[in-house]
Amino acid sequence: MKVLKFGGTSVGSVESILNVKNIVETCNEPVAVVVSALCGITDQLILTSQMAKAGDAKYIDSYNDMVERHHAIIEGVIKDGVQKAALLYAVDGLLSDLKSIYHGVYLIKDLSEKTLNAIVSYGERLSSNIVASLIDGAKLYDSLTFIKTEKKQCKNMLVSDLTNTLVVEAFKELTDGAVKVALVPGFISTDVSTGEVTNLGRGGSDYTASIIAAALGAKALEIWTDVDGFMTADPRVINSAYTIDTLSYVEAMELCNFGAKVVYPPTIYPVCIKNIPIYIKNTFRPDAQGTVIQEECTDEGRAIKGISSINDTSLITVSGLSMVGVIGVNQRIFSALAKGGISVFLVSQTSSENSTTLGVQDKDCNKAVEVLTREFEKEIKVGSMYPMLVQQGLAAVSIVGENMHNMPGIAGKLFGTLGRNGISVIAFAQGAKETNIS
Ligand code: ADP
Ligand code: ASP
Ligand code: MG
Repeated sequence: MKVLKFGGTSVGSVESILNVKNIVETCNEPVAVVVSALCGITDQLILTSQMAKAGDAKYIDSYNDMVERHHAIIEGVIKDGVQKAALLYAVDGLLSDLKSIYHGVYLIKDLSEKTLNAIVSYGERLSSNIVASLIDGAKLYDSLTFIKTEKKQCKNMLVSDLTNTLVVEAFKELTDGAVKVALVPGFISTDVSTGEVTNLGRGGSDYTASIIAAALGAKALEIWTDVDGFMTADPRVINSAYTIDTLSYVEAMELCNFGAKVVYPPTIYPVCIKNIPIYIKNTFRPDAQGTVIQEECTDEGRAIKGISSINDTSLITVSGLSMVGVIGVNQRIFSALAKGGISVFLVSQTSSENSTTLGVQDKDCNKAVEVLTREFEKEIKVGSMYPMLVQQGLAAVSIVGENMHNMPGIAGKLFGTLGRNGISVIAFAQGAKETNIS
């Protein structure tokens, strides 16, 4: 069996949903099909919540707009009949619950995390109902019952062992062959202790698909999207980017961790440890070759496989002469940041040890500076360490490729190219594995 995931762009219009139907119905083996919300709906669900919270009565127009979009898709893809009536009954039931929740938010002008999580879950609950009723013989599954999360450092994290057990139980009919198409809403989950609706984070449908593929020992995970595959760079930024035929798990992980939105980063790990290949395919050009991500990649030995980048990043430099040769300064830096729930994506420290530079997202910068300043308050007061040096609004770029390992001249070429183009590098990092220079 295989797991196929269709993103928002693949379920955004009548034309694309019909492509999904074709792709799924031509599979000649049991498949689990994971779907995202209709394209743009998750953003609109959030925006409408914010309008309701702000007391803006126009939230209802935005809500009605979503109702119309779902109805238009149903009109476009499902023929009149009993099945359509049943679908409309289910979809309208969900939409009416959603309306009541929005009304509550509007009345009390409060939007808790719990309420927002409940609201955004409607995107996938609605789309999965529509696609399930369109695909012949599909059975609808409820991810809320088998994808389980727990709160860790203010984040909803997957409870892997329990989820795996529940997935195996839930999909027995699929693995036995009694069900040919299991239709699954992506992204959504429930908290293991409270039962509250949670989610796997923006872009999380890829992760839902990967979790199911790994738990069921699928032959392959196929991620169907709106581009021909994993590309050498973000095609929205670099118009000469082209599709990469094969990537190793490590390369894919490096690229998507650093901005390649085509795959949600946590997706790689569950299938990687089970050695299940990931195929990235285009719903609008199903015959295009796509990209395969697997353990060994049979490429032509190209050193650099791709470039990825993230905007809105900051560098914070912790520095001071008292740091030189002192054991435990980095331990204090990282403990303080971890306690503050701040993720660091780049670290750079020279051998003189008098400064450590950390890359964080702009949104975390102020908090990071606050916790670091508190941690080193005494040292800063007596002058043995300097106040934090902060540079905001930066971009981080990385080149990735497993074949960079032991290949001289790559860093030289990178810095030469940047220099010739008048770009000054503020900080950089390369691990000794040599698969990424950022
Ligand atoms: P989906 O709705 O299918 O989940 P996403 O928008 O999450 O789609 O991801 C697909 C998009 O990712 C593409 O349309 C493309 O603009 C963007 N993207 C960014 N980096 C890359 C890359 N390296 N390769 C391919 N697509 C990329
Ligand atoms: N609908 C969710 C989002 O837009 C999950 C997904 O599409 O993967 O983030
Ligand atoms: Mg996506």
